[in-house]
Amino acid sequence: MKKIFRLLFGVLVLSVIILAPSTMVQAGLSDEKAATEKQIEEFKKNITEANGNLEKILAQVNIVENTIREIDAKLVQINQEITVIEGNIVVKQTEIENATIEYNKKKAVFFDNLRSNYEKGGVDYTAVILDSTDLTDFINYNEYFRIIKEKEEEKIREIVAAKQALEVQKQELIQIQETLAVKKADIVAQKKQQSIEQQKLASQKAYFASLASKYKAELAKEQAALAEIDKKIQEALEAQKNSGGGNVVYTGNGVFAWPVPSSNRITSQYGWRSSPIFGGSEFHKGIDISASGGASIVSAESGVVLISYYSSSFGNTVVVNHGSGIMTLYAHMSSRSVSAGQSVSKGQHLGGVGSTGWSTGNHLHFQVTNKSDIYNGAVDPNIYLNYR
Ligand SMILES: [Zn+2]
Repeated sequence: MKKIFRLLFGVLVLSVIILAPSTMVQAGLSDEKAATEKQIEEFKKNITEANGNLEKILAQVNIVENTIREIDAKLVQINQEITVIEGNIVVKQTEIENATIEYNKKKAVFFDNLRSNYEKGGVDYTAVILDSTDLTDFINYNEYFRIIKEKEEEKIREIVAAKQALEVQKQELIQIQETLAVKKADIVAQKKQQSIEQQKLASQKAYFASLASKYKAELAKEQAALAEIDKKIQEALEAQKNSGGGNVVYTGNGVFAWPVPSSNRITSQYGWRSSPIFGGSEFHKGIDISASGGASIVSAESGVVLISYYSSSFGNTVVVNHGSGIMTLYAHMSSRSVSAGQSVSKGQHLGGVGSTGWSTGNHLHFQVTNKSDIYNGAVDPNIYLNYR
């Protein structure tokens, strides 16, 4: 008898040693996974936000770049106008210089003529009188001087007027040139301001781009961590299946307890259906039982909890191994009241009905397998649920 007790005690200690770390690892991993998934959501949100800001900045950059292009076009045009005006001024200047030379030349000739005529007149005054056949000749001689003088004076007046007209035209051109210079200075100032704005936007653009890439790097890291956790969970699952869970022998009568005692409303049956989350059609591996949030979910059959964790798709999930390859899965739970390795009896509370993971409302997704593979070997739960 003592030997048997010692043996039983030994088995008990051994199973505690084997099961306890496995269960603890499982619980720790589930928490870690939930935290990582939350972190990933946070990073995705941050990336969306940074990208949104980046898009706004890029739109502003576009506007500023367009404005600068318009300003540059205006500058090219005004520079062309200034060049034309400057050319015209040079032409006018040359014309004025030529007119001045002409004026000076005419003036010199006029005074030379006048001087030599008067000198002639002065010197040969008597001769002029003597040369004159009568007084009329003398009068005509004076008349000749007067006509010559007037003709020359008229020529000079014409030249002076032409020169003055040129000066007026030149002044007008200079005025246009000044107006254009003011306009150009204004455009240059506008360009300078736009360039400052452009620089500011460029630094903002760089900031948000680096922020987005930083979050993307963090996201990649978190996603890698999540994949790692998923792998660990699968390994823990495998280890448990191979140790205690795998050797559970089914003792039930083939009729399961209804998993949600407070509701018998089936909103989706096993089989092909259109996906409520992603659209298109998908194979529904279980049945959906609609119930109020927090309504009790019970184990359909006695067994050992194989896994109790948070999945991004299934939300809070419990899998119970009933032995002989028969397993049940409970998903989208609001809470979990059992942990991996724990023995549960038929009808025992496992947690509450919820809408965690990819879900559109409070319901229990209930999945069954008799092929040892709860994820890929699902069978119609109606085989075991004697409700019809
Ligand atoms: Zn479902």
